[in-house]
Amino acid sequence: MFKALIVDQVDGATKAEIQQLEETQLPEGDVLVAVSYSSLNYKDGLAVTGKGPIISSFPAIPGIDFAGKVLESNDPRYAPGQPVVLTGWGVGERHWGGMAQKARVKGDWLVPLPEGMSERDAMAIGTAGFTAMLCVMALEEGGVRPDSGPVLVTGASGGVGSVAVALLGKLGYQVTAATGRTEESDYLRSLGASEIRSRDEMSAKSRPLEKQRWAGVVDTVGGAVLARALAETHYNGTVAACGLAGSHELNTTVMPFILRNVRLQGVDSVVCPAPRRAQAWQRLQQDLELSRLGEVTQEITLEQVPDYAARILRGEVRGRTLIRVED
Ligand code: NDP
Repeated sequence: MFKALIVDQVDGATKAEIQQLEETQLPEGDVLVAVSYSSLNYKDGLAVTGKGPIISSFPAIPGIDFAGKVLESNDPRYAPGQPVVLTGWGVGERHWGGMAQKARVKGDWLVPLPEGMSERDAMAIGTAGFTAMLCVMALEEGGVRPDSGPVLVTGASGGVGSVAVALLGKLGYQVTAATGRTEESDYLRSLGASEIRSRDEMSAKSRPLEKQRWAGVVDTVGGAVLARALAETHYNGTVAACGLAGSHELNTTVMPFILRNVRLQGVDSVVCPAPRRAQAWQRLQQDLELSRLGEVTQEITLEQVPDYAARILRGEVRGRTLIRVED
């Protein structure tokens, strides 16, 4: 028997509780993993509270990411004892996820942990940190370099935002962190931000073109904040858009694109192809000061997940939240 968080719908209401399961209850897959850590992402908040249509059929185990060791494998690429990490692929949505002591998944969805990265480190990074790395890679592919000018990170005290600030700071960029929690300014400066901009200022309605401020932008918020970020981006700048924490809408004009050559690059982490995943995990190992993750990370148990799921949706969770799954 092993412990799992089960999300179910009872009389139209979503309920999340800890249950003991047997291995035979797990879905089909080539690799059985002993999960040591999962993590709490915004999407998990939606899944566990039922506030967003994330889980496709009930009952289900949530958890869009996990790290652990292979227990059994029918995939020749994986052997028992091997440390692995998984993010995305609909795990924790269409397939049972990481908030349990065991998970059975497709070998294609796994990434071997980079040498020197612990399972705990991997989940301190998690989907959010992996997505932040993909955003940084998108800026680099758009030609943004540390000497191109200041870069902006929106939703900076959240999971994606915190890791993006830490990565860009370590890479030598001059980072401005846009946040609704200006009381977190010291925290954001300790991560690598040199300037703080308030969310109110960033969400004020913008003209089609504003003063050019940013060589690059990592946007986790969408809506009016993304519209302003586009209007404030330098000639030839790149905006990497990965989130909708503020809004899924985007009301903008073509002006930044046709007059300033601005590139708006979407970033998806869920079905990101395997070679790019491996590259992003290697880059995280190389470019993220793993010791800094301690400052960004808090650790909770499976039992605490429902409470923290509600908190992440209220924008009250700072940085990354690790879920310790093993006993
Ligand atoms: P978090 O909740 O940890 O962070 C989101 C941050 O956005 C908050 O901390 C807050 O930062 C800011 N924020 C929250 N509400 C609002 C609001 N109403 N208006 C403006 N800003 C707001 O979430 P994650 O970091 O895990 O995810 C961030 C976003 O990225 C989410 O929308 C998520 O769905 C998306 N995402 C997308 C992925 C992809 O593959 N494309 C993968 C992972 C995440 P502050 O207090 O500093 O302002």
